[in-house]
Amino acid sequence: MVRSKYEEGRKRLVEHLRRQGVSEGVLTAMMQVKRHLFVPPYLSDQAYADYPLPIGEGQTISAPHMVAMMCDYLELKKGEKVLEIGAGSGYHAAVIAEMIGNEGHVYSVERIPWLVKFSKENLQRAGYKNVTAIPGDGTLGLPEHAPYDKISVTCAAPDVPPPLLEQLKTGGKMVIPIGKYRQVLYLVEKRNGVERERKCDVVFVPLLGRYGFKTK
Ligand code: SAH
Repeated sequence: MVRSKYEEGRKRLVEHLRRQGVSEGVLTAMMQVKRHLFVPPYLSDQAYADYPLPIGEGQTISAPHMVAMMCDYLELKKGEKVLEIGAGSGYHAAVIAEMIGNEGHVYSVERIPWLVKFSKENLQRAGYKNVTAIPGDGTLGLPEHAPYDKISVTCAAPDVPPPLLEQLKTGGKMVIPIGKYRQVLYLVEKRNGVERERKCDVVFVPLLGRYGFKTK
């Protein structure tokens, strides 16, 4: 069987992530998602390299290992309802969508209208029906579909926006980068109280909006 150059690239990327300790569940999902359909065409040859790429409007698609790590921390399961903040290219949402299956749903809020359109087109081309990209300020969450089993914030916040904590189910998990210059990825778990666990140092574009950083 002749494999496309993209499929070869995807296989090599998955092997690289396996050596880094990513779970088999996340690797299976990442083997399914055609990252080359989520980057601007002039960058498609770099789609399976493990680094972030520009997607326009000064934003970036996160590096594959970051997407993998965040999905692993969330322990995604079939049938879950997930809220993503920052649809960007739609790639991270597609990986989550693979993990939660057709019984689950991803709602992804994006503040830049052009990126809402970009992510929608990419997700449609890649065949994902269980992801909805929605324009808006994700720091307010998305109350109409709350509560969520999991929340994945893909831009760096000054702190956990209170609406996101409210819209997370009891027993739910959220991953969120926090910080302005030095950012740390936290796993937040809502039980009787709220527990935060520091995971690692990261670099993300800022979360802007009502409970995010100010635009001016
Ligand atoms: N998950 C994306 C990565 C997006 S980068 C992917 O897989 O490609 C972070 C995104 O967060 C950017 O698109 C940025 O516009 C968006 N963003 C920043 N602040 C936001 C807010 N308050 N609400 C929704 N999206 C926001």
